[in-house]
Amino acid sequence: MKCLVCLNTIEPQVTWEIFLQLPEKDKLCSDCSHRMERITKPGCPRCFRTDSIGVCYDCERWEESHEGVLEKNVSVFRYNDFSKEVVARWKYRGDYVLMEAYQKDILKTFTLHYPEPIPLIVIPLSETRLHERGFNQSEAIIQLLQRESHQLLTRMGTQKQSKKHRSARIQSTNPFRLTKVIHDPVILIDDIYTTGSTLRHAASLLKKEGCPQVYAFTLFR
Ligand SMILES: [Zn+2]
Ligand SMILES: [Zn+2]
Repeated sequence: MKCLVCLNTIEPQVTWEIFLQLPEKDKLCSDCSHRMERITKPGCPRCFRTDSIGVCYDCERWEESHEGVLEKNVSVFRYNDFSKEVVARWKYRGDYVLMEAYQKDILKTFTLHYPEPIPLIVIPLSETRLHERGFNQSEAIIQLLQRESHQLLTRMGTQKQSKKHRSARIQSTNPFRLTKVIHDPVILIDDIYTTGSTLRHAASLLKKEGCPQVYAFTLFR
């Protein structure tokens, strides 16, 4: 068996445990597993930032400008140098199966924080981006979670935006449009939480139309 990430052969460790359980096929070597840093103790409970004690400054600022829009974000891994490399291969070079190597960790963190069967909402890409990449990372993550994906949003293409008059552009900085209203809590699924603005743009539309709570789940923070 080869590691999906580094392509080195994974040496199976023969133990009684494995013998009795019938080994599940490991898709990840121990090195590539260790280099992906799991967030076990988030510093900020709202956004999973690791280098803060309690609610971070950014989250406080967000609450001032977008009060109650996003309940919280849960992330699986730190966006360190190694994960940046993996993400680049996965997302920009179309190595779609790469993230399967980390499926176990992704599922574990997800079910720990979100045990309820809350609908998972896709963060859409613009047509152009989707065409360039060949897949939507948000949908790919929902597949890894072995759950059904819900499409409630569309994303305006950047071309359409630039053709608009400046004043119209400023008014429509939110790149999303809501296509379907939902009156149940939802979880937005995306790959990386950087500033949190993408998720809040999506969440604010959902909340405005009656969604009671919007949560987020991202792979990297
Ligand atoms: Zn490896
Ligand atoms: Zn925070």
